[in-house]
Amino acid sequence: MRPESRKIPARTTDALLMLMAVLFSRSILATGDELAMVVGSHSLLRPPAMIAVKKGAILHGLDARMYSAIHKARRVWTRHGKTLVVTSGLDGRHKKGSLHYAGLAVDLRSRYFVPSTRKKVTRELRRSLGDGFQVIGEKHHIHVEYDP
Ligand SMILES: [Zn+2]
Repeated sequence: MRPESRKIPARTTDALLMLMAVLFSRSILATGDELAMVVGSHSLLRPPAMIAVKKGAILHGLDARMYSAIHKARRVWTRHGKTLVVTSGLDGRHKKGSLHYAGLAVDLRSRYFVPSTRKKVTRELRRSLGDGFQVIGEKHHIHVEYDP
């Protein structure tokens, strides 16, 4: 893992809770301790969730549909042997009116894929997300937005 990447930190616990809710379809009303328990027991059953968040990326405030999209993307990335890294959410500088500012867009790292794999990943993600989502291949990342 690159130095600027890391596991989801404590300050995005609420984002993680949302993600857990998507993964397990259970109530998101859990305390930090309960969350640690869920994560702990989860890790006994399966390999660790292959999601990392780039330092500085803000996921707090993302629309719930984006968490679902991130979960689906994780499956695609895992299938191609890479850890999914969310490189941008509500942070960063995007063009005026960008859906990033509305919590309806994320950027996902793609620079570690060779061009042919990147194309495949883009196509598979587009198919997995279905209608309403735009999946756009940029130079170093894949931009995903919900724009029905
Ligand atoms: Zn973007």
